[in-house]
Amino acid sequence: MTKKNSQPLRDNFDRNLTDLRISLTDQCNFRCSYCMPKEIFGKDYQFLSKKELLSFEEIKLLSNAFVNLGVEKLRLTGGEPLLRKNIPELIHDLKKFKTLKGENVEVTLTTNGFLLQQFTSSLKKSGLDRVTISLDALDENIFRRMIDRKYSPKIVLSGIDAAINEGLAVKVNMVVKKGVNHNQIIPMADYFRTRNIQLRFIEFMDVGNSNQWDSKHVLPSGEIVKLLNRKFGVAEVGRKTASEVAEVWSYSGGGTFGTISSVSKPFCKNCSRARLSSDGLLYTCLFSSSGYDLKKHIRGKSCSQSDREFIETKRSHVENIIKQIWEGRTDRYSEQRLTDKTNTHERKIEMSYIGG
Ligand code: SAM
Ligand code: SF4
Ligand code: SF4
Repeated sequence: MTKKNSQPLRDNFDRNLTDLRISLTDQCNFRCSYCMPKEIFGKDYQFLSKKELLSFEEIKLLSNAFVNLGVEKLRLTGGEPLLRKNIPELIHDLKKFKTLKGENVEVTLTTNGFLLQQFTSSLKKSGLDRVTISLDALDENIFRRMIDRKYSPKIVLSGIDAAINEGLAVKVNMVVKKGVNHNQIIPMADYFRTRNIQLRFIEFMDVGNSNQWDSKHVLPSGEIVKLLNRKFGVAEVGRKTASEVAEVWSYSGGGTFGTISSVSKPFCKNCSRARLSSDGLLYTCLFSSSGYDLKKHIRGKSCSQSDREFIETKRSHVENIIKQIWEGRTDRYSEQRLTDKTNTHERKIEMSYIGG
């Protein structure tokens, strides 16, 4: 795999491109009210067809291009990524890419955990670096209300246990919706603190157009930290790197938790993330209204892995396109949300499609 660029790309605000989130499917087995409310994503909702989805070969070709341009982390997401078949094989192949620093690219997965238990062994073998599991409540009724399915949180907890037993690195994400699951903050913190698993509290965001977002349902991270401080005693650790989305805190009795404050404390200034939708469009912001079709530049004439030269030509072509797009990037939606309420009404892409 030849490399032409030795410097990571920089956008208009001097932000590198180091993270790529890849949506493997726009479908999901949950209907979280904050992401895929069932009133919108019902029986008649038109999901992407199989033909429209990027194939694994196309995902690998595009990932290779992104890594050549400076990407160091690939996160597989969706929709629910574990609905897609043969993910361990994809991860195994993605792990072969080397970053500009000559290190192995980091590959992680975000899942709702419902199907995790059956995959932990093959995921571990594939070389997956970390799995992030979303879980919004321990209480069964509240969990069901959040995901709008009659499942038990025990299924997700068993998936988490299986991942830990398999030796996978694990983090847990909890979206906090004030008035719905905020009373789960302490039980969730206690549960994961005693198991030494990092729980990250995410502020309910105004992604997409379907989730009836209202600021009155946002519990600012500052309030969450105060609550946890009163209960456990906490201290600020900070961000591991400037572009990390989560601020990390430690409990006085040991263990850490994170806060992701996209609404109350936006972090656009260091945003190094691009997103690839499951049908191959590149989005430079979670709140974008439109994307850039990369698939049309790599699909067309059929190609096989042996047709190396052909693949290299396409990859090099798409690298030039990505470069131009990133260098023209000016996104800072969350910062603007704080000061200019008008821009929040523009039509945005759905998170289940673009990848969380
Ligand atoms: N289905 C997988 C899952 O739930 O982990 C992966 C995709 S999901 C879109 C990725 C992450 O986005 C999850 O942690 C989810 O909780 C978070 N998310 C979705 N909608 C959100 C919203 N409106 N505000 C904050 N986080 C949200
Ligand atoms: Fe599905 Fe994840 Fe969205 Fe929930 S947050 S509906 S699990 S994609
Ligand atoms: Fe990045 Fe857009 Fe989120 Fe700002 S709003 S942190 S630019 S994805």
